Amino acid sequence: MNRFWSDVAKGLSPYVPGEQPKLANLVKLNTNENPCGPSPRVLAAIRDATSDSLRLYPDPSAEQLKAAIGKYHAVDAKNVFVGNGSDEVLAHIFLGLLKQAQPILFPDITYSFYPVYCGLYQVAYETIPLTEDFLIRIGDYAKPNGGIIFPNPNAPTGCLLALIEIEKLLRSNPDSVVVIDEAYVDFGGESVIPLIANYPNLLVVQTLSKARSLAGLRVGFAVGHVDLIEALERVKNSFNSYPLGRLAIVGASAAFEDREYFENSRKTVIASREKLISELTALGFEVLPSAANFVFARHPLRDAEKSALALRQRGIIVRHFKLPRIDQFLRITIGTDEQCAALVSALKDILRD
Ligand SMILES: *Cc1c(COP(=O)(O)O)cnc(C)c1O
Repeated sequence: MNRFWSDVAKGLSPYVPGEQPKLANLVKLNTNENPCGPSPRVLAAIRDATSDSLRLYPDPSAEQLKAAIGKYHAVDAKNVFVGNGSDEVLAHIFLGLLKQAQPILFPDITYSFYPVYCGLYQVAYETIPLTEDFLIRIGDYAKPNGGIIFPNPNAPTGCLLALIEIEKLLRSNPDSVVVIDEAYVDFGGESVIPLIANYPNLLVVQTLSKARSLAGLRVGFAVGHVDLIEALERVKNSFNSYPLGRLAIVGASAAFEDREYFENSRKTVIASREKLISELTALGFEVLPSAANFVFARHPLRDAEKSALALRQRGIIVRHFKLPRIDQFLRITIGTDEQCAALVSALKDILRD
């Protein structure tokens, strides 16, 4: 705290991202990055754009990227909003669509950035507990609200909600915006983007950080009715006209054009996940069903925080949340098969002690 801080700065409780350690040779399984790496076509596009043109501002509305996303998802480019990572897209959503008279609803266990945005923008919210099995139950959201948001699959549980359940929620909340954060949908879920044609209250958010291996490029987007997109454009153009640089626009556009690479990389991650789940189960872990590129697991006999520390001492970092209901879980990103093998062998070692 400092006398120069505004009351806003004093009142914030910022999000704490998973660490990006400087140490080399760490097995980094803590922030859900994709072990496959970006498509070579993305790298080539970025290389080609690394030229004198960087002198010039980028296209403020990133039309090339909106067209590529529209083509991939079979929607009009007018239904697409892009931002500097989906975190930025989410920030604009909280301010432009979810700041309402009634509190918004989200699960008690979910992406921990949501309450941070509520704090930043003074958005009232109420959390809805997941069931005992850590699932979202749509019936629990049947109350007056200023909007609803959750990831599908949920984070950090990895659990998927069926499309038909989301449709029920959209039908029972015609007067609130329902935001589905599909950061992990490509690892085993089904996107609700096709539903935007029927539900003007649906906004779907996706990122290129996870399934498309571009966390370092910072690109995310939202798809929805043009009226919802317009609210986001108004906020964006009151904040930063150029959230995406030239390299991000061309790199992200190329990612949507290389379908084959994308299909291979997500299938690789899914196969490694299934293998890791069976190995963790064999070690006595309870693993929640995951449709994401991570697993959420607890061991009945081992304290999760101590296990995370013991893994760290062996050069492996995973994520542990010191939060009610989930402090006995570890969230483990699916790495390469070698990284998963290193994790399993370290866990065997730790469980022996
Ligand atoms: C990773 C993640 C994001 C943020 O992704 P960026 O595009 O890298 O900002 C958003 N929502 C959820 C649920 C995530 O896990």
